[in-house]
Amino acid sequence: MSKTEEYISRSENVILHTYNRFPVVLEKGEGVYLTDVEGKKYLDFGAGIAVFALGYHYQDYDEALKNQIDQLIHTSNLYYNVPLMTAGEAVTKASGLSKVFFTNSGTEAIEGAIKAARKYAWNKDGCTDHEIIAMKHSFHGRSMGALSVTGNSHYQEPFKPLIGGIRFADFNDLESVKAQVTKKTCAIILETVQGEGGIYPATKEFLQGVKKICEENDILLILDEIQCGMGRTGSMYAWQEYGVEPDIMTTAKALGCGVPVGAFVLNEKTANATLVPGDHGTTYGGNPFACAAVTKVFELFEKNHIVDHVNELTPYLEKRLDKLVEKYDFLSARRGKGFMQGLVVTGRPVGEILKKALENGLIVLSAGSDVIRLVPPLVIEKEHIDEMIEKLEKSF
Ligand SMILES: *Cc1c(COP(=O)(O)O)cnc(C)c1O
Repeated sequence: MSKTEEYISRSENVILHTYNRFPVVLEKGEGVYLTDVEGKKYLDFGAGIAVFALGYHYQDYDEALKNQIDQLIHTSNLYYNVPLMTAGEAVTKASGLSKVFFTNSGTEAIEGAIKAARKYAWNKDGCTDHEIIAMKHSFHGRSMGALSVTGNSHYQEPFKPLIGGIRFADFNDLESVKAQVTKKTCAIILETVQGEGGIYPATKEFLQGVKKICEENDILLILDEIQCGMGRTGSMYAWQEYGVEPDIMTTAKALGCGVPVGAFVLNEKTANATLVPGDHGTTYGGNPFACAAVTKVFELFEKNHIVDHVNELTPYLEKRLDKLVEKYDFLSARRGKGFMQGLVVTGRPVGEILKKALENGLIVLSAGSDVIRLVPPLVIEKEHIDEMIEKLEKSF
């Protein structure tokens, strides 16, 4: 029995089988490469699902975390701590929004955003039957509130009843959103670029149109930037390319670059008229360890011009991917922005390609049922794109 077989068997003995995992046991990371327990190396174009924006062992990042471990890991939110302050300053500066609440995950950031929106509406009229409009094929997480706004019946069905008052509209179809607006609508929630649903960027007309609906009806716009944020699409937050500002933004994944942390972030109007002491809380959220990571991530993004790097390399990545679409009949399109790209596959199971890629030492992800998803660390270089293309072609 190989080490891999042994570890898989021991894991399946004790870990609840909620994932059909690839038969690989990962052990170490270095830069944009991962190594498994057999010593096999993989080029990582998945980044732990758009998490490891800076790759593994990025200079100064590990050091900052080690220092924080020596200082203080946890205090609770009953007291102030310095990393919480600096992380909050970093997020508000980068987003131009006003107030931050740190969570431990993306799904908790969504829960907080939903509560903030409902409280905002309740403050206005005291009613308890407010509605939220969400998008079909969206993904916002697995906890009950986030699941309720996730437009995927397969994920929802076994867990009903979900939270009430959710209506679904078609992404990038403004009329379908208008059709769902009622007097009770308190928020519209959407991903600026749909991730799990298959890498669909919002069109400018759509996002601007949704914003207009929100402004005209005092509805809050919640933009989920958990996957597409943190520089991935070529600006710190994808919405910054649209000239549309959310009332509430959710962020996570690359926010801590591997340390579990998320946040919901409010503009001034919303922050001043929603959650107050007693309304919301978390034991771990915003703890010094997680916030030291967040602070360092923003510092390194700025110092090393990570977002500029994404913009410099995006045309090359897109050109190489477009060439693949031209060359292979079963690739019907490329979709995406920056380092969040999808190749649409027709007539072949994506899972088989992912498996072959893994054999060839390349980690890529899927999205929806028919998309190869590429969400590499933001620090990849041209040579890594070349290597990815070569290994992907070999896997076809
Ligand atoms: C991953 C993701 C979430 C959920 O985040 P978790 O940290 O897994 O709870 C929510 N929204 C989007 C857009 C995501 O990609």
